[in-house]
Amino acid sequence: MKPAPFDFAKASSIDDAIALMTQHADARLLAGGQSLIATLNMRLSAPKLLVDINALDELKRISVRDGVVEIGALVRHAQAERSAEIAQHAPLIARALPHIAHPAIRNRGTIGGSVAFADPAAELPACLLALGGEVEIANATGRRRIKADNFFTGLFETALGFGDILTGIRIPAATPASRYGFAELARRHGDYAMVGLAAAARADGTTLKDVRLAFFGVDATPVRAHAAEDAIEHGEDAVAALADDLDPQDDVQASGAAKKHLAGVLLRRVTAQLQEARS
Ligand SMILES: Cc1cc2nc3c(=O)[nH]c(=O)nc-3n(C[C@H](O)[C@H](O)[C@H](O)COP(=O)(O)OP(=O)(O)OC[C@H]3O[C@@H](n4cnc5c(N)ncnc54)[C@H](O)[C@@H]3O)c2cc1C
Repeated sequence: MKPAPFDFAKASSIDDAIALMTQHADARLLAGGQSLIATLNMRLSAPKLLVDINALDELKRISVRDGVVEIGALVRHAQAERSAEIAQHAPLIARALPHIAHPAIRNRGTIGGSVAFADPAAELPACLLALGGEVEIANATGRRRIKADNFFTGLFETALGFGDILTGIRIPAATPASRYGFAELARRHGDYAMVGLAAAARADGTTLKDVRLAFFGVDATPVRAHAAEDAIEHGEDAVAALADDLDPQDDVQASGAAKKHLAGVLLRRVTAQLQEARS
């Protein structure tokens, strides 16, 4: 199938991209194109204008400042995978990246595209949620930040509105007390996860505090597992507590019951990772 006809504009700056997006009611940003082009080809979406932001170098930076890692929206998965800053200061993201698709897709796909697209089985939205990160957004009226807890609002739905451009994400940089865990189950490496779990915590002596568990592939958005988080912090049975947190529905990958079982398996693995000393 071929896409419906559309106009194309290459933005020369963030302001130019915002102007193009606000002048046309039915415009769509083009980042890595790895998800968007497929939806166009299948005619699942038919925007009248594509606004290409690939020339915006200011969105391609990774920086670490004042205990915060800032990753520009146009940083490609492969660039982040090779980044020494990400490896040192955002090890959860580093651990998740190799699970995203295949090298060819990671060469083009962007961090901002992944977060904006908000696939419920995607790794990076769950990592952002587990890390208590934020999304930076620009539009014609200025810039704002939204916490990951409030950003993912539904199936492929986010807090992004008309004329908004996601310019980057911000996550707390790792400290010596930071602990992370990541695991997913997919039919083949690189496939979207059947179920996955990204986790962060702070070691306090022999206990874990500030535990944040973000499951993906189990609901319309990444999901915090608050009961299981409390159980881990109090040394209780987190897998039993998980029954209060998750109610996965059947999908093309697996039944809801299978997903719930697999979520418990992943929780055991990830809890063990959180309890390991940082290596
Ligand atoms: C075969 C295949 C397997 C894949 N497997 C996985 C996987 O296992 N895990 C995973 O997480 N992903 C997977 N992906 C998706 C991949 O990670 C994409 O790169 C990602 O979802 C979208 O990034 P992109 O830069 O290509 O965005 P695009 O395709 O360019 O855009 C996606 C959507 O986000 C919007 N958008 C893009 N950038 C911005 C921005 N800065 N501000 C606002 N809106 C924006 C676009 O308008 C569009 O609606 C897979 C893709 C393919 C084709």
